[in-house]
Amino acid sequence: MHSTISLIAASLLAVACTPSSMSGGQAAPGPASAARLERGGDAVAITSVRILDVEAGRIVPDQTVVVADGLIVSVGAAGETQIPEGARRIEGNDRVLAPGLADMHAHLGFNYDMGLPIGEHELAVYLAHGVTSILNQGDFGSPIGARITALAQNVDDGVLDGAALYTAAYVRGPNDGLDFQEVETEADGRAVVAASQAAGYDFIKVYHTVPEPALRGVVAEARARGMGIVAHPIFGLTLAENLEIGIDLIAHSESYTYSQFNNEIVPEHLSDAVDVTREYQPWIATTMLLENLVLAIATGGDEAIETFMARPETRFVHPLVQEGWRERHFTRWQDPSRSEENYRDTAQFIVEIFQALYASDARYLLGTDGPTVASVPGINVHQEMTYLTKLGASPQDVIRMATLNPGMFLAEHGVIDKPQGQVTVGSQADLVLLHGNPLDALEHYQAIDFVFSDGRVYDRVALDALLDAAAAANGSAGEI
Ligand SMILES: [Zn+2]
Repeated sequence: MHSTISLIAASLLAVACTPSSMSGGQAAPGPASAARLERGGDAVAITSVRILDVEAGRIVPDQTVVVADGLIVSVGAAGETQIPEGARRIEGNDRVLAPGLADMHAHLGFNYDMGLPIGEHELAVYLAHGVTSILNQGDFGSPIGARITALAQNVDDGVLDGAALYTAAYVRGPNDGLDFQEVETEADGRAVVAASQAAGYDFIKVYHTVPEPALRGVVAEARARGMGIVAHPIFGLTLAENLEIGIDLIAHSESYTYSQFNNEIVPEHLSDAVDVTREYQPWIATTMLLENLVLAIATGGDEAIETFMARPETRFVHPLVQEGWRERHFTRWQDPSRSEENYRDTAQFIVEIFQALYASDARYLLGTDGPTVASVPGINVHQEMTYLTKLGASPQDVIRMATLNPGMFLAEHGVIDKPQGQVTVGSQADLVLLHGNPLDALEHYQAIDFVFSDGRVYDRVALDALLDAAAAANGSAGEI
């Protein structure tokens, strides 16, 4: 088993997902089509297209889909579906129309008080890779917090090109090394939720250092206000006790290691984790590729770090964020107090936890923990998807984790009012037009000709322009 994991780690480091390879090497459309369509303009009809039905796990051939004002207004057999007067037509040519993707565990890179407009470009880079929604699972306090919610508003208002941004306000325990949004008592917990909602946040993100009375206060206040709780289960309580208090989304598959298993590797107790998960039905963010990267860096030394940093797609990441990867994460993943064997055994156990929970139909959402924790916006979603299939998940289930399930999660907590993550009438028109069927090979999700997002339409030229702008901005940021 150990050698399997190492092999995956090595192949991961060799991956180089560039935009040109991701767009399938197709000839670029003419520059006349480069501009994105403005929201609220004429309807768009995508004709003669195959539709990915994620729920049923099948492709519906020869359809026409009409989109207007950010919603899917009709879906039906090509030739029988009425196309509104003046609608712009996009010839589907038997390509596949699929839901846009979501990353439900992201941290925009302008954490750590960088105070730079990094998030704007990062949101555009997500979009250019077909990721139309992200949940930022915590940022690092005022004034950054105000900037995160303003960014979300700018995307929502159509001022900014980017993935829709949903936000969770970080809540931390006292003295955990970062001195903001600290809570100790139940009253503290209630107060921080009220302040976070007033600041425009959608969710609360509880860190594992939060004391139990404060967690109870956070949950009580969040329930009263209709806000969902995203969390690292807190220290000192079992996973079941955490879930009983009221966690809606467990932030990592890895969270089970300390909360359920008390930091012991006990494969014979995996069924207990399955039982607890069945009882409480939490959502769980995958973040599995991250565990593989930890292993690769821990066992591969500085050579592994330099291989990782040399990936061409790092140009889409601000140099300060890259510096953060090295200083805050790679160093702590080379912990001299842990043996290579311990890193391997731990990584393997987390894989077994994921596999056991997946096999029991646990409710997973795709999550990456990037870009702050060492990955590239959007590309990390495709890499996580591919990796999950290497761990045994089916393409259909992985696509569900990145589309339908995030839509269900966001709707459950009142964050969206139209269905998301499916190609059905009345749903948000957050869509991608692909060359092939991703149920056959997930990589088809990487060859994107158009992205539809919140009433706007981007062709490949427009998407590449967003990528070029991000890379140029990062390049001119210079050496730090
Ligand atoms: Zn995180």
